[in-house]
This record gives sequence, C-alpha cells and structure tokens, in this order.
Amino acid sequence: MSKTILVVEDEKAIADILVFNLQREGYETLEANNGTDGLKLALQKSPDLILLDVMLPQMDGFEVCKKVRSSSQVPILMLTAREEESDKILGLELGADDYITKPFSMRELMARVKANIRRSVISPEEEVKTEETSDGLQIRASNGSIYKHGKQLDLSVREFELLTFLAATPGQVYSREELMEKVWGYEYYGDLRAVDVAIRRLREKIEDQAAQPRYIITKRGLGYYFSDTEKLESI
Ligand code: CA
Repeated sequence: MSKTILVVEDEKAIADILVFNLQREGYETLEANNGTDGLKLALQKSPDLILLDVMLPQMDGFEVCKKVRSSSQVPILMLTAREEESDKILGLELGADDYITKPFSMRELMARVKANIRRSVISPEEEVKTEETSDGLQIRASNGSIYKHGKQLDLSVREFELLTFLAATPGQVYSREELMEKVWGYEYYGDLRAVDVAIRRLREKIEDQAAQPRYIITKRGLGYYFSDTEKLESI
C-alpha cells in the first residue's frame, strides 16, 4: 500500500513541486495551505509523514508540530526558510523528527522523506501483564514498542530507532556522525545537533533521572553508547 504524505505549505509554487515529486515517487499526497487545516488533516487522515512549513497563516508550523505530537508519533519533517539556529532546534525540541532548510534540493528532500518513513507509526498503548514486567527496559517486537516498568513509552519513531540501534551493541561507542548515518540514514546532509536533541528527548523518556543516565551514556568527546551493564530485554 502506498504511503500518504501530508504537505503543509502556503507557498503554492513550493507545494506544487513537492506534491509533483512525491507523487512521482509513488506517494499519495494530502495538502493544506495553512496551519489550521494542516493540523485537522494530520489528526483526521493519519498520514505516514508530514512535511511542515514553519511560517504559515493562522497557526505556525511549531504550533502545529506541538499539537500533532501530543497525540501522534507520525514522522514530522519541518521546512524552514529561517536562518536562525534557534528556530531549527526549536522544531526538534517540539518533537519534529528533522528539519530541512529552504532552498533545498529535491534529491535531498526525497532522501530525507524515505529515511523518515521507513518505519510506520508505533502501535497504540498496550499494557504488559504483570509477570512480564521487570525493573529494566523491555522491547516487544510484535508491535515495535518499548516498555518501562510494564508501561508503554511514548517514543517517536526516531527515538525508537536510536534506542534499539544503541542497545543492539552495549558498550559500543558511536560518534554523532555515525549515528546520523546509521539511524537517520543520511551520510552528510543532516545537522549533528539533531542527534544531541534526540538523545536528550530519549533520555527524558527512558531514564529515571535524565541528568544521571543509566542506559544511554555519553562518552565525552567521542559520542554515545548503551550501558554495558544494562540490556533491552525482549518480551
Ligand atoms: Ca511559508
């Protein structure tokens, strides 16, 4: 079944070329030219990925991102024309999976769409039976979700991939460049700060104390690794 991509963009020329190229790649598309309609379509139509412009009439892209994120883990790729560094990071802090700066090449954009759409949205909440709970982190492969103390965690697709990638090789340190390549799926397009933001958000969800992480450890100057005294148990 083909994947559906929601394009929220008020500049018609950009929206048209995005839709044209997405359809040529075999994606179905939905379009909105303001934030309010974008949010409505995101919630009603459950697209597989959202391309979300920042500067939009009625409701800006940051607000749309925040509202979508409160109920959905759909991959969100922000499109920003802004130069301010803080704006790029703000999108990530609000739960966007990535951003791309205008003007962008269509090849770069398509590479990112593909990388972000690889996994479908994580299944709805499901409690684990008490005998299956443990003190640690658990993964249920059947629905691709992560549990802590028997409670399903609300991880984005990217956070899930980052965690499972690191946990596959406890003690192995990966640089931010390596994580960008292996987890994000791009070799040089990405902004390495996206890795730091994703690690921080992941820690806030999986660690008891994000400042003193038990699972995802920083190796100063080198990168990150999953603790070799912990494991991600399969259930
Ligand atoms: Ca705009």
